[in-house]
Amino acid sequence: MNTDPDCIFCKIIAGEIPSFKIHEDSETFAFMDINPANEGHALVIPKEHARDVYSVSDSAISATVKTAKKIAAAVDKTLNPDGLNLLQCNGPAAAQSVMHFHMHVLPRRNGDDLKLNWGLEAGDMDAIGQLAERIRDNL
Ligand code: AMP
Repeated sequence: MNTDPDCIFCKIIAGEIPSFKIHEDSETFAFMDINPANEGHALVIPKEHARDVYSVSDSAISATVKTAKKIAAAVDKTLNPDGLNLLQCNGPAAAQSVMHFHMHVLPRRNGDDLKLNWGLEAGDMDAIGQLAERIRDNL
């Protein structure tokens, strides 16, 4: 499987840097976003390194979408948001900041006024860790 030793998400998959893991299987990995745009913001990535939608393999994107569906259901059960976006960004105008294909699982609240290119702001790590546990319990 293709991996990139300099990629931050490949390092998370390898356990070289910590993450609030929610789920892992042979093809995908899911964890909490540490700069959450909203409470419960999670990320789903293929284990195979690919930069974006143009280069990700059919099997990796299929597995990622399948896992995103599972994580979305667990986030919904955990937080009962008013809505939820599955979002995937490619290139600078789309605000892609990590060059490893990923899907955002992004719970939404009525009136949260979230813009597509939200700014990155560090979250509360204790709260994020507790949420990861609650979401895992609902998988
Ligand atoms: P994007 O802007 O679509 O490339 O999204 C990348 C996301 O990765 C952002 O929402 C970041 O907050 C998130 N992120 C970056 N580094 C980490 C990390 N070490 N652990 C969890 N999330 C991260």
